[in-house]
Amino acid sequence: MASKYDVAIIGAGAAGMMAALTAGRRGKSVIVLDHAKAPGEKIRISGGGRCNFTNIHAGPKNYISQNPHFAKSALARYTPSDFIAMVDRHGIAWHEKTLGQLFCDDSAKDIIRMLLEEMRAVHVDLRLSCEISEVGKGADGFRLSTSEGPVIAENLVVACGGKSIPKMGATGFAYRIAEQFGLPVTETRPALVPLTLDPNLLGELSELSGVAIDADVAHGKTRFREALLFTHRGLSGPAILQISSYWREGDEVTLSLEPGVDFAEQLKTAKRENGRQQVQTVLAQHLPKRLAQYLAETAKLERSLADLPDKALSSLAERIRRWPIKPAGSEGYRTAEVTLGGVDTDALDSRTMQAKSVPGLYFIGECVDVTGWLGGFNFQWAWASGHAVGENI
Ligand SMILES: Cc1cc2nc3c(=O)[nH]c(=O)nc-3n(C[C@H](O)[C@H](O)[C@H](O)COP(=O)(O)OP(=O)(O)OC[C@H]3O[C@@H](n4cnc5c(N)ncnc54)[C@H](O)[C@@H]3O)c2cc1C
Repeated sequence: MASKYDVAIIGAGAAGMMAALTAGRRGKSVIVLDHAKAPGEKIRISGGGRCNFTNIHAGPKNYISQNPHFAKSALARYTPSDFIAMVDRHGIAWHEKTLGQLFCDDSAKDIIRMLLEEMRAVHVDLRLSCEISEVGKGADGFRLSTSEGPVIAENLVVACGGKSIPKMGATGFAYRIAEQFGLPVTETRPALVPLTLDPNLLGELSELSGVAIDADVAHGKTRFREALLFTHRGLSGPAILQISSYWREGDEVTLSLEPGVDFAEQLKTAKRENGRQQVQTVLAQHLPKRLAQYLAETAKLERSLADLPDKALSSLAERIRRWPIKPAGSEGYRTAEVTLGGVDTDALDSRTMQAKSVPGLYFIGECVDVTGWLGGFNFQWAWASGHAVGENI
């Protein structure tokens, strides 16, 4: 005999658990099914184990989607303050790290524990290590064939994430369900991901591996100012992860290193005041030593300032201010924090997340074509879209 519920949710991640506890509070019978052994595995590893659970500045401008207006409604109806209120109610200590990013003081596990307690309080049935082999729709609702037996539910919420980090159980199952029910899925690609360099450039930059620096990284008109890290495979750090969501194969990104420093002015002043100084010594007052050395060396300017024309110093300063680099690729889904693209928002109702053409079918969280910037925005989308479903189902 099949078990019957008002709501079946596929995926016990951030979005699925939020939808479950919200619907449960409204008296709905809810089952959450996940093939993983533990719920909220991505929450557990997020934010270096401390979970950057929201961003106090979160708004539609922080999200990428074919329809930038889609996320507005859900984000407005469940704000960072709403989530903070729940975190505070559970006595979880948190702090703002930078740029509005809120982290747990102690551990990301506190967030998982909080969500589980909230679910338990409203009798959500959580089934882990549960494989779903088939999803269908009949006269009595949605029918799921699972390793725990058949499940029937009036409503089906698909919250099983994107394709990022397959090792952690990401399957792309949400897209297959969307396609099965005739919903369009936009092109998906790894986002918030380190960028790789071709072997020649990598060889040239090899001495810089491990160097971190404040940078403004641009792709067209989009730019992010955060830390940049040179690695043994290419470029990483928050500024690069951010721009990776906009970058496409064949494109260049432009690095501006230590954008707060006017290197042209610094070099000219140093030349005037003490012409015997070496170029790399002046640069190293504002840049990591290895980077200063590399820049002077590749510009063939490892000499005293007095021996160099102002023009050469200006070109060097311009290189530091506008350094174009063409990445060869990205590290892919193996390390991408999120998947860009997903279930086409045109096919969903922005208030409820319900598929316009399939009553009772909902998509939330990362599987939808709404992708946040780095900095707590993706969890805020998971909470907000989960809440939108839970309130309206
Ligand atoms: C390393 C890392 C760090 C991150 N740090 C942050 C951060 O600090 N702040 C932030 O805002 N965002 C962060 N993110 C992004 C954030 O984790 C995701 O945006 C968020 O988890 C998406 O929530 P979701 O519920 O939609 O999907 P998920 O959290 O991916 O949950 C999906 C669930 O569905 C289950 N599932 C998948 N396929 C199936 C299937 N076939 N059958 C049954 N169950 C299935 C999975 O096991 C999983 O439990 C990070 C991501 C990574 C990878």
